[in-house]
Amino acid sequence: MIKAVRGTRDLLPPDTALWNFVEAAVREVFRAYNFQEIRTPIFEETALFARGVGEDTDIVAKEMYTWEDRSRAASEKGQSLTLRPEATAGIVRAYIENKMWDRGLNKLYLIGPMFRRERPQKGRYRQFYQIDAEVIGPASAGSDSPARDAEILEMLATLLDRLGITDWNLELNSVGCPNDRAKFNEALRQALEPVKDKMCADCQRRAVTNPLRVFDCKVPEDQPIIEKLPRISQFLDEPCRKHFEAVKEILRAVGVDFRENDRLVRGLDYYTRTAFEFTHGALGAQNAILGGGRYDGLSEALGGPAAPGIGFAIGEDRLVMSLKETAEGVLRNPEVYVAPMAAMNVEAARLARELRRHDLVVELGDDAFRLKKSFEAATRVGAKYILIVGENEVKAGAFALKNLATGEQIAVARAELAEAIRSGRV
Ligand code: AMP
Repeated sequence: MIKAVRGTRDLLPPDTALWNFVEAAVREVFRAYNFQEIRTPIFEETALFARGVGEDTDIVAKEMYTWEDRSRAASEKGQSLTLRPEATAGIVRAYIENKMWDRGLNKLYLIGPMFRRERPQKGRYRQFYQIDAEVIGPASAGSDSPARDAEILEMLATLLDRLGITDWNLELNSVGCPNDRAKFNEALRQALEPVKDKMCADCQRRAVTNPLRVFDCKVPEDQPIIEKLPRISQFLDEPCRKHFEAVKEILRAVGVDFRENDRLVRGLDYYTRTAFEFTHGALGAQNAILGGGRYDGLSEALGGPAAPGIGFAIGEDRLVMSLKETAEGVLRNPEVYVAPMAAMNVEAARLARELRRHDLVVELGDDAFRLKKSFEAATRVGAKYILIVGENEVKAGAFALKNLATGEQIAVARAELAEAIRSGRV
């Protein structure tokens, strides 16, 4: 038997209703903040991610699905392509390619699958889904303002509240600008020099290549060493400090709780200032539901004009998981099961069409079913009513409508059926 590939999975009903519920809430909330949808390709040139995500990140170094595309001429080398492991690089490429700075400030969101070759476990997949949003544009349009950072964070808090997720924590930091980080990096390198030999193999490598990434380390034995390293908060210059203060001031004013965490560091040169993560208590080891931050240098790193930006990616799989217990009433079972008696499929189809045009959820049976089987089928799909369609009923223009929970039954004229079902008065 052929099975779904390791790390991928089928999303089946009724869970898919939860996914749709989440996506509908996302679209509604984001709309209120004037975000608009962008859809970019699922694969891009490998070089985009190498530059846009960073060569020495785990994603680029170990986790990408990359292949050489077949070239037209046998002598030619194929293009190197990669399934997108995240959305920001593709969106910034689209921003540059489509000259979107002409539109001023762009507030964009994207919902779709991402691909990373990670070791699968609960809450970690090789094909997973992200809800991604980015604010990007020329500085003259206010894209670098702390008001944008605060707005995005407040929008996320609103979304989580709307979804009924209450026990989230917002961890907030400023990683400064490239100058601050160069100093911080140097301080880290010096601090790591005498202790790095006691650390894990990854950290020994990071201590030389990119000391900032030491903060990604999850090895328990390394944590006491990491705890004593210098902190980025000691290295922020005056403009970065002011920017961070302004973000926090707005968050306090609008009533969004946060916790400062100066160990939350994104290690790439073009990451600037605000960095954040939302975690959720119920998720266990993979407890980050979303992460994001500012990337004022990314557009330039990808060959575009200066375009400050800030964005985030929500892990939709984890969001849905943290929602499962709380989400009631998301499912819409059929309101009515239309049960045709012998040779009544045609009439039943006509009736079902009428009811569906009144925006009712209708399940349609089959005239090969005996009445008992129709009742069983109606119960299995969770229908509220069963509607019997026999020759006499069609002639009389009135149908037996039975409430499957109470057993109560009434005869209803054809023209009044939709209203009787919707009102739930039987
Ligand atoms: P990142 O792009 O790494 O900052 O991830 C953003 C969010 O995507 C994380 O907070 C997770 O919720 C989610 N995520 C990342 N990798 C995976 C994965 N392999 N499986 C499921 N969710 C993921």
